[in-house]
Amino acid sequence: MERDQEINVLREQVRSVTADIIRDVQKRMELARQIGEIKSRKGIEVKDEKVEQEIRNMVLSVSSQAGMKPDFALRLLNILLEESESVQAESRQKPQRQTHLGIFMKAKQMEADGKEMIHLEVGEPDFPAPSAIATSLSESFKLKRYHYTETRGIPKLREAIAKRDSVTEDRIIVTPGGRFAVFSAIVSLLKPGNELVVIEPAWPAYKECADFVGARTRVVKASLEDNWVPDLKRLEELISPATQMIVLNYPNNPTGKILESKTIDKIISIAKDNHLYVLSDEVYADYAFEMRFQGLLEFGYDKTIMVSSFSKRYAMTGFRVGYGIAKPEIIKQMNKVQAVGITSVAEPIQYAALAAMDQGHGDNVKIMKERIDFVCSRLKDMALPFAKPDGALYVFPRIARHEDLELVDRLLEKGVALAPGSGFGDSYTNHVRISACQPVETLGKGLEKIASVIRERS
Ligand code: PLP
Repeated sequence: MERDQEINVLREQVRSVTADIIRDVQKRMELARQIGEIKSRKGIEVKDEKVEQEIRNMVLSVSSQAGMKPDFALRLLNILLEESESVQAESRQKPQRQTHLGIFMKAKQMEADGKEMIHLEVGEPDFPAPSAIATSLSESFKLKRYHYTETRGIPKLREAIAKRDSVTEDRIIVTPGGRFAVFSAIVSLLKPGNELVVIEPAWPAYKECADFVGARTRVVKASLEDNWVPDLKRLEELISPATQMIVLNYPNNPTGKILESKTIDKIISIAKDNHLYVLSDEVYADYAFEMRFQGLLEFGYDKTIMVSSFSKRYAMTGFRVGYGIAKPEIIKQMNKVQAVGITSVAEPIQYAALAAMDQGHGDNVKIMKERIDFVCSRLKDMALPFAKPDGALYVFPRIARHEDLELVDRLLEKGVALAPGSGFGDSYTNHVRISACQPVETLGKGLEKIASVIRERS
């Protein structure tokens, strides 16, 4: 009885403190709204990294004085910052952000309306998928291989992947495309308020997945001047006690960059020092032209999650099959997300993936290199600056500043779909991504139209 009373007294205090917190948070929101109005009037950007950093430092110092765990304090702060930003952005016109997928949808609609289109926007190799898939699919039907499977994939496929990538089977999860492996890794390992470090220009899905869990994306901006090598000092500065993960994507979409192993070594040592996960999206690993691509697993860091896919390697985008490799504890977490979301990848598709592995990817890489060389030589003629890609399926040339969306729209009218640079990060409005997933003849026609639109505008 006496103990109940003791608890009740404390509970009453908890209620009162909670009410104070809510009222204070609302006060903070009101202040943020007022700041937002002033910024809007004066045309100042909503996000201010410097001010954010000052608040972060203040919170770290206050939390340490108060005896609060710094990562928890920063997670709380991040939730407040996210909310303030959205309050401040409410009254503004949303910046136009078009991703390659948005352009792809537009181009598809224009095609459906009868317009001819050259698709240089989408990273979907036009090669035929391995023919062995046809036999495998029909066998699957005959043998009734069309049931639910283990969430992490059929043993035969996991065995084959384990052999290919020199790992044990308990480190593998077969996913519906590399995209879902990225999603399940991010949503299972990050909590609201955590931070994720992304090197831009970047495939937009990493930030989208972080947004989905309420995590904050911190960005290291790489540039053409630095040959797309990220500034590791900047990367280190961005890391806080709330940071959980660094995302790498090499060969890179959209630049085609592959980092040297000494740079990866440094990134891993930063990750190790800060106990961070490294999500390495290697869906373009086979498309490495001048050098062998050294995947992150070879570096032996135990908090690595490697993502791979059948989409690009075997031109199997529509089959939706990929995989993740990580230590068993991480795979278990990813498996939970997958079990909730999809039960398993379709059984016939898993056998199709196995058949594709048996057959191999033929000359896909050699052909892609020829196409990339062709695009590069045409871009040189057009005097557009770019860094020659080490791999992947794309070239990311520079165009005039803030012109990506206009150029992309103008080219859509002319029957060429391109990916705007700003879809890979706000700072890349002076770039476009050209995908080399078409035969040289088609690429030539597309590039000719690009050249003529650029000539017409300058
Ligand atoms: N990762 C990157 C960097 C990509 O560019 C893409 C697709 O374009 C994917 C992952 C997803 O590929 P998948 O088809 O395996 O989901």
